[in-house]
Amino acid sequence: MTKFSQMQYSRPELEETNAKYEALLNNFKAAKTADECFAVYKEINSLNEVVDSMMTLAEIRNSLDTNDEFYSDETDYLDEIEPELEEVLQEISKAMLESPFRKDMEAAWGKLMFTNKEMELKTFSPEIIEDLQEENELCSEYSDLMASAAIEFDGKTLNLSELAAYYQNPDRKLREAALRANSDWYIKNSGEFDKLFDSIVKVRTRMATKLGYKSFTELGYYRMQRTSYNQEMVAKFREGIVKYIVPLVAQLKAEQAKRICMPNISIIDNEYAYPDGNPMPKGTPEEIFAHGKKMYAELSDETKEFFDFMLENELIDVLTRPGKEVGGYMTTIPIHKASFIFANFNGTSADIDVLTHEAGHSYAGYVARDLYPLELQDGSQDIAEIHSMSMEFLTYPWMEGFFGEDTKKYYHYHLSNAITFLPYGCMVDEFQHLIYEKPEMTPGERNKVWLTLEKKYRPWLDDANIPRWAEGRVWQAQMHIYEDPFYYIDYCLAQVVALNFLELSQKDHKNAWAKYKKLLDAGYSKTFVELVADSELVNPFESDNLKQIATTVVARLEVSNI
Ligand code: ZN
Repeated sequence: MTKFSQMQYSRPELEETNAKYEALLNNFKAAKTADECFAVYKEINSLNEVVDSMMTLAEIRNSLDTNDEFYSDETDYLDEIEPELEEVLQEISKAMLESPFRKDMEAAWGKLMFTNKEMELKTFSPEIIEDLQEENELCSEYSDLMASAAIEFDGKTLNLSELAAYYQNPDRKLREAALRANSDWYIKNSGEFDKLFDSIVKVRTRMATKLGYKSFTELGYYRMQRTSYNQEMVAKFREGIVKYIVPLVAQLKAEQAKRICMPNISIIDNEYAYPDGNPMPKGTPEEIFAHGKKMYAELSDETKEFFDFMLENELIDVLTRPGKEVGGYMTTIPIHKASFIFANFNGTSADIDVLTHEAGHSYAGYVARDLYPLELQDGSQDIAEIHSMSMEFLTYPWMEGFFGEDTKKYYHYHLSNAITFLPYGCMVDEFQHLIYEKPEMTPGERNKVWLTLEKKYRPWLDDANIPRWAEGRVWQAQMHIYEDPFYYIDYCLAQVVALNFLELSQKDHKNAWAKYKKLLDAGYSKTFVELVADSELVNPFESDNLKQIATTVVARLEVSNI
């Protein structure tokens, strides 16, 4: 196995790569027997693995150090060529769908892969290559802008992740000052944030029009591979959240206000949940990792093997450094059968989420690493988020090793956050539906839409007259709105399933783990709704289930009695 630092990068040159794909496409079309067809696809798959891995390596290394000019230039180049390669890749998908051996391939690899390819064809035409390039460029500009934040605060120069650690500081004045410093930075850059998003909405709408859709929303759903639910079902899900979850969160927030002796919850206190401070992980990053290693060793033999593999091969980078991108992600490098976890530790309980959430994604990647073809290792994000969000709950029994005397508080905090997230997630989703329905809106009108949604989903939150919140600009920090349109609802759907795993694991952890493992083994061979049904888990689209989840959460929070 190759360690991350030794993984070789070489640029996939556009002409050369395109020519290889073209040749393979011709061979694929010329296949006379099913065997020939499978043999050519094997070569296509190998090329896919190389191209995919090179793109991922460049992206990871660019995110680890945005000041590294080499990888910054490489990602710019790859952003340019990705849409150009799309044309031949779509031709290959088309050839697979029209192949006389489609039935043989479906028998070997499952039908869903072909349904997904049908959907993929609806998202592209050579006419939109330039628009896709523009979209990629705008997204890179957004992430560069976010990474460029260097905020002078508390005698230090901080990026946005580091500054965020202060929002839960017990000193109220310090919390407020940190939030104002954050607000000042966003307001100072508001022209740039507005301009970028306006261009993004326009280019996405232009692509949708060229492809014959009424708005970008329809195209966005195809891009997200929504094979088992539609806009109406999502809207109904959001209504269920407003009906059953928003009142529960309002109650939790009222309890929080009482605990910290405030009349209500304002943005200054929103993340400060307990009078003696939020639950904090104990120990140095090394100690945290040592316990993570113990946790995965005890959870199961496979998770032990997985986590040791990640540590041995330098596949986890969590320490914050200047120039490193903000946020966290997990990605895979297929030629090395490896995944990579990227995060920014800031000393809060979010650090432990990296070892559970991102590691959950990563473990799913590890389980799927030998699946063939590559398409079966990766799929829709709603399923991917079940993998990660459920892992957060399935690792509950090991939290004491991270939180010590704060463990009980951590359970309360983590579960409260899990439920508080649902209205926020739906707000982000509804916002995007409204934005793409009226792409002609001005930046000011978009902020007004956000403020209206705040009243619907977070009626308890007082903006404390801090400009960024008062002006309705909070959404500009939500990377997905810029870079991954319509992704956000996937977290909400998956969270409901993850809460179901919590309930199951409380009854019988062994059984819940076995169910989770079975769900991972199914990979991406089923749609979200099928997978949930086959695994006998709750279907988030039935609002009675949301009511049931709310009851379970209330009961569990009462047990933790904080
Ligand atoms: Zn995730």
